[in-house]
Parts: sequence; structure tokens; C-alpha cells
Amino acid sequence: MSAPPFNLYDLTREQLRVQLVRWDLNPVHVARLWNYLYIGLAASLDAMPELPPKLRARLAAHTYLGVLPTALETASGDGFTHKYLLALADAERIETVLMRYTGRVTACISSQVGCAMGCVFCATGQMGYTRHLTPGEIVAQAVHVARALRPAAPAKCHVIRDTGAETPAEMCHVIRDKPARERLRNIVLMGMGEPLHNYDAVMHAIDILRDPNGLALGAERITLSTVGVVPGILRLAAEKRPLHLAVSLHAANQAERAALVPAAKKWPLDELMAACRTYSATTGRRIFYEWTLIEGKNDTPDHARAVGELLRGLPAQVNLIPLNPTSGYAGLPTHSAPARTFQHILSAEFEIPSTVRQRRGIDIAAGCGQLAVTEAAAS
Ligand code: SAH
Ligand code: SF4
Repeated sequence: MSAPPFNLYDLTREQLRVQLVRWDLNPVHVARLWNYLYIGLAASLDAMPELPPKLRARLAAHTYLGVLPTALETASGDGFTHKYLLALADAERIETVLMRYTGRVTACISSQVGCAMGCVFCATGQMGYTRHLTPGEIVAQAVHVARALRPAAPAKCHVIRDTGAETPAEMCHVIRDKPARERLRNIVLMGMGEPLHNYDAVMHAIDILRDPNGLALGAERITLSTVGVVPGILRLAAEKRPLHLAVSLHAANQAERAALVPAAKKWPLDELMAACRTYSATTGRRIFYEWTLIEGKNDTPDHARAVGELLRGLPAQVNLIPLNPTSGYAGLPTHSAPARTFQHILSAEFEIPSTVRQRRGIDIAAGCGQLAVTEAAAS
């Protein structure tokens, strides 16, 4: 029996090269194929006209291109956020978000269908866990966003100067309509799912996303957010993976944290902080600590001092995220004045820098923790 076709987005350039060799083809063609996939963003084999016929035949017989069709696209009222409900081959759905804020273009990417971690305030947690995404399904989300950033109409040619030349090709000097030079520059693994619960697939996908001849997302451009999967953080440290790490903290003592983040029962706060210390010591990297601000729950000056004490001496930045509404949790977001007090305590008393996340894309449920696939959206 022959092997089932594989997804081209699942393979690194080196793996594709090895595959070409196995097919008895000249591996030099991998450059053109890669270019079609990640520079041309081709959506099918038909959009790769200049492949050698033998390679094309192999690709047609043994591979497929796991492009994720859009089941639904929504744009926020301010136009800065686009959310895509994408269909997977097994009819599962995931959400991916394109954000354009302060001149940065960022894709917020999912790593699982649903999530097993069950954080009480998170819509993905509320829907439960269905399955891990494959590397190709993670890569395809980035490609989808990169494609969405391209100008809608094909670039037009304009005659700008008659040169008096003989042939049509020489007759004019043409320029292409200048597209707005928007490119996918940043990836945050903050969509649906817990990326360190799907470690191997996520790291493999990151290797593909970072390829300098493809999407070329630099180490400083990829942020992975974890609920605090301790073995995953230690593995990231040991492997010295070049990325930014964000750890979702939300509470500075074990009891309060476990009430919000059930995964804390498995990976208690003291073990998590020990892993964070190891990570920063091994990699020399600062960690971003995320703190969803919930009115009356974790937003008082005492809470700010507790997190300050917890992070004392660590290379840290705290990202405060006022709670976004979800149907399964009744809490309210902290207002801006107490959020500013929280920040002030962190900086004045502990010299810890912090930011307050702007509440964007909330009108289309594209904010942090709002991604989910409801029955209605899935049908
Ligand atoms: N599973 C990973 C990444 C996805 S969630 C993690 O938990 O870190 C991305 C961020 O959104 C996390 O910091 C998470 O705690 C936060 N978040 C979840 N639900 C939220 C909500 N309703 N409002 C604000 N932030 C939320
Ligand atoms: Fe999963 Fe992160 Fe949501 Fe928690 S916050 S349920 S870990 S996606």
C-alpha cells in the first residue's frame, strides 16, 4: 500500500529537499518550490507553473497543500482586527486573528482545537479539548494571514515611458502598482490552545515559520504564551529555543491561581516559578508575565505587591490584560484607574515594567481568551 499524501506545509525546507532526493529528483528544485509556498504564497499546485514536470507529477501524486479555507471572516468596527474561522480537513474549526496595531502586523495563531487547561475565564477553555493541530495546520494559519495582507487585485502594469523599442516587451518600461508594503512580521501563539501541550508540532511549525528563505519570522518576532506547563518551559530552556516566552500568571499565590487556572494543580506556582528562573538563567531572556485583570479578584494594590514580591529579582515584564467577556464567566474587567495603580506599584516599588493591553477586537470576540468555535460558527 502506498503512503497517504502528506501536507507540504508539514515539512521544513530540509525535509522537502530530502524528499526530492528520495524521489530521485534534483534537490536544487526545492528552492523554487519553497519560493512558491512561502514567498508566492501559492494556494495550489496550479499556481506553481514553473515546476519541472517530474516534480509536479510527484507532488500531485504524493502530497497536498493544506490551505485552510475561510468558513467565516469578521472585521472589528475600527478595521484593525480581522478574525478568520478556518476549516480543517476533518471539519473541525479554529480561529486565527490578524491584528494591525501601532504599525505592527501580527498574526495570533492557534495550536489546538479547544484547550484542555480549563481556565475559567477563557472561551477556549470553556469549549474543552478536541485535538492537537499538526505543524502544517499551524503553518497554514500564518500563510493564510500573509495571503490576506496581499493587495486584493492583481498588481496592474502601467506604461510610464515609451522607449521607442521594437518588441512589445521592450516597448515600455513598466512598473507594478505599488502595494502597501504590509508583511506579516509578528506571530503570537496566543490563539486557541496551550502551545506547550502540543510541543513538538509547535516547535516544528516555528522552524518552518523562521526559515530565512520563507516567511522569515525572526526569533524576536515570535511570542509563545503558556499557562505554565512546567516540563515544556524546562524543555524550551534546555533547547534554548529562540523566541519570546510569556507565562500566564493571573495570581501570585497557589490557592488563588488554582481557582482561576486548574492546570496550576498539576504544575504548582512554586514549581512554575522555579522553571521560570531556570529559563531566564539558561537563556538570558526576560519572561513576559500575563495577568488578566479581573475586578475585585486580582486587581488590588495588595495583589500588585504580591506579584512584585513573586517576581523580585527576575528579568520580567508584566502584561496586564483587562478581562475580556466570555459567555461562561461572570467576572468584570478592571477599570483603567485601578489598572494604572497596579502598574504604578509594580514600577515604583519593584522596578518591574508593565503594559496594559489595549482592548481591541472585542466587538468580534477576537480579544485574548475570546477565541472559541461555537455550535453556530461550526455548522
Ligand atoms: N494557552 C496559552 C495561550 C492562549 S491564551 C495561555 O494560556 O497562555 C492567551 C492569553 O489570554 C493568556 O494570557 C490567557 O490567560 C489570556 N486570557 C484568557 N482568557 C482571557 C479573557 N477572557 N480575558 C483576557 N485575557 C484572557
Ligand atoms: Fe487554554 Fe490558555 Fe485558555 Fe487557559 S487561557 S484555557 S491555557 S487557551
